[in-house]
Order: sequence, then structure tokens, then C-alpha cells
Amino acid sequence: MKYKFVKCECCNMNIPSEKCDLAAYSAVIDGKEHLFCCKNCAKEYEETKSK
Ligand SMILES: [Zn+2]
Repeated sequence: MKYKFVKCECCNMNIPSEKCDLAAYSAVIDGKEHLFCCKNCAKEYEETKSK
């Protein structure tokens, strides 16, 4: 079995993407899909980007 890890694009935490839908929070920002550890990070990243 292989475990893939992705990094939260906001806080750089490693997220196991084994069950990507559940383990990570993804959001589409600027037409691109980004992965985050949680909703808060997604929000924060989006706010940082839009400034
Ligand atoms: Zn995060």
C-alpha cells in the first residue's frame, strides 16, 4: 500500500491523501484546485491571495 502525502498550501502541514476527499480540504481558487488541511486554511489562503 502506498501513502501519498500532500502539503497544506497554507500551513505546510502534511496531509495523508489516502482518502483525499475526507482527509484534506480542497478548494478551487483562481480556477485551480488547492489542497488544505482544513477549511480555515483554505479561507486564510484565499484571503491572502486576494489581497
Ligand atoms: Zn493548513
